[in-house]
Formats: sequence, C-alpha cells, structure tokens
Amino acid sequence: NQVNIVEQLRTVIHQYQWRMFDKGIMVSYSLPEMVVLKGDSSLLYSVWENLLTNAIKYNRESGKIEIELTDADNQINVIFKDTGIGIGKDELERIFDRFYRADISRERSIEGTGLGLSIVKSIVDLHHGRINIESEKGEGTVITVILPKN
Ligand code: ATP
Ligand code: MG
Repeated sequence: NQVNIVEQLRTVIHQYQWRMFDKGIMVSYSLPEMVVLKGDSSLLYSVWENLLTNAIKYNRESGKIEIELTDADNQINVIFKDTGIGIGKDELERIFDRFYRADISRERSIEGTGLGLSIVKSIVDLHHGRINIESEKGEGTVITVILPKN
C-alpha cells in the first residue's frame, strides 16, 4: 500500500495539538508537499504516534518539539526533536526493550507501559528501516527514523 507520510505527520500533530497546548509545548515542523512510501498505513501511523506522545510526555512544561521530514533519492528521514528530560547514555541501549522504562520516567510517575519503542522498532524493521537516537540528559532527545524508498 502507498502511504502518504506527510499527511500522516500532519494528522498526528493535529491529533495531539491539545495535549501539547495543555503543556505549553510549541511544535514546529518542516515537511515537504508530499512523500509516499510503500508500507502499512496503520503501523506507520503508530510509529509517529508513539514518537510524538513520547516527545510530549518526556518534555518539560513550555518545551519544544520539532518534526522534520527530509526526502532523499532512496530514503526518507523523519526526525523528532524534543527539549525533554533526555535519556542517559547507560539507558539508551535498553529503551527498545519491551517494558523497559528509564528510572527518571518512573520516578516522575509519567505514565507508560514501556512497550511503545519496542513496537516502533519492530514496525521500522518490517519496513527495512532503522532508527537513530541522540540524547542528552536534561537537554532533550533527537530520534530519526530512516525508511528506504521502494
Ligand atoms: P508506552 O509508549 O508503551 O505508553 P513508554 O512511553 O514508557 O510507554 P516507550 O515509548 O517504549 O515506553 O519508551 C521507553 C522509555 O524510553 C520511556 O519509558 C522513557 O524512559 C524513555 N523515552 C522514550 N522516549 C523518550 C524521550 N523522547 N525523551 C526521554 N525519554 C524517552
Ligand atoms: Mg511511548
């Protein structure tokens, strides 16, 4: 199936705009007119949904979220950048594990099951893509989903 990734990103931002508004979070995005990929529409949507809800939940009050989609010849990059609590170096390699949640998320009693990113990873694998994470504790997180074009 052909999936319009730009439309999905616009929809998910719209879906969570009130949750961002409630927390005083400013979202900015840079999206091309349209990018179409072959893939499973509802699975890909749940990737953007989990990454956006994480960027909201683990953000600070009045934080920022930037979403960017870059379209290259043979792949697309979808980047979610937040100004949240960040993830410690020692925890980074475990956040894709099922039920894993970083200490600080549990301490601050931010709700979650710890399943989101493991599902995201499986879906991205299914689409032959990969995920890159850069994070600084107390500064924020940048998650890049790289999906090949087909
Ligand atoms: P669920 O998505 O199942 O509701 P969750 O958000 O806790 O629960 P994941 O999405 O798998 O689970 O994330 C795993 C853990 O990684 C989180 O509990 C949190 O500790 C950390 N994490 C994920 N995204 C971020 C982020 N953007 N900033 C800081 N920490 C994050
Ligand atoms: Mg999550």
